[in-house]
Amino acid sequence: MIYSLTETKMYSMQTERNEIVNYGKKLITSNLTTGSGGNLSIINRETGLVAVSPSGIEYLDMQPEDVVVVDLQGRVKEGSCTPSSELSAHLGLYRIREDIGAVLHTHSVYATTIACLHWDLPAVHYLVGFAGTKVPLAPYATYGSEELADNVCTTIGLSNAVLLANHGLIAVGKDLKTAFVIAEEIELVARIYYQARAVGEPVILPDEEMERVIAKFTTYGQTRSGE
Ligand SMILES: [Zn+2]
Repeated sequence: MIYSLTETKMYSMQTERNEIVNYGKKLITSNLTTGSGGNLSIINRETGLVAVSPSGIEYLDMQPEDVVVVDLQGRVKEGSCTPSSELSAHLGLYRIREDIGAVLHTHSVYATTIACLHWDLPAVHYLVGFAGTKVPLAPYATYGSEELADNVCTTIGLSNAVLLANHGLIAVGKDLKTAFVIAEEIELVARIYYQARAVGEPVILPDEEMERVIAKFTTYGQTRSGE
């Protein structure tokens, strides 16, 4: 970690840097990941620049200066740390989906458990609607590889979350707060699915019902927008 408290340099994307540090800490306190596992990024669509968490720095130690700024081709524009190992997946998602403003990757335990079984996460509970009618599973590839980034981008479709086989979860949203909430809710649904499968055969909600739920979520979000 190369930064100095006496450094006078002004950094760009200060708001995004602060958000990444804050939500990185929330990943730990919400038990969505441990240590430096997982990663987060935010894109500024006007400049095309992406602020991304650095590789290998524990979230509780991370400072705004450690956040790395890259362009959509992955070239480092600012920062002395190495960007997250899953940068290619983040950038790929920003390139294929204009609606995505932030990407969050976790190794949250129950979502990862489902991903290790190579299952999709079906609509066992209506809260899966935060992602879509289900959470699809991206085939396994080595972490940090272009192949994994390709698998994520070809699997996600219009979903707001995707499971990574034998690895974890990626959630996307218009901003980091939204992506974080999606990751939390999907972790809850994954836990419910795991528990239900442990004792019986859970009833899965049909796609038509999930479409109704997703439409209701849109209205719900609008009524809460003044908060
Ligand atoms: Zn990972």
